[in-house]
Amino acid sequence: MNLCTVCGEPIEVGDFPCITTPRPHARGMYAAIGDECDILQTTGTKEPIRFRSKQDRLRWLKAHGYREVVKNAGPDDKHCARWAITDPQTLENGRILVSRPGALQDYAPPPPVKMRIQLVSGEGRG
Ligand SMILES: [Zn+2]
Repeated sequence: MNLCTVCGEPIEVGDFPCITTPRPHARGMYAAIGDECDILQTTGTKEPIRFRSKQDRLRWLKAHGYREVVKNAGPDDKHCARWAITDPQTLENGRILVSRPGALQDYAPPPPVKMRIQLVSGEGRG
């Protein structure tokens, strides 16, 4: 556990510690890790349930035999693609990519090319 170097209080993930003078540690509002949430569960229950804890919600899901899945909701779904079906052009592009000569063979670099480079006065200067 890390302790604040100013006030000596423990610092949790997402906390903003004191800078120069002791003050209450503010919790970062954009912290990626944390149990706080505000989820209104409307599926799988007759009455909506408001969850303020991600762990409480996960326990509720598990207790009722549910698990979260991402699924295409139909032709109007703009957020989740239908993974089971792809268009013919994408399939053809994939076929071309994997059938290219040498696509799956070891790559041998070509032999070096000898070049003479001559710098001419006045070129490339502003
Ligand atoms: Zn502090």
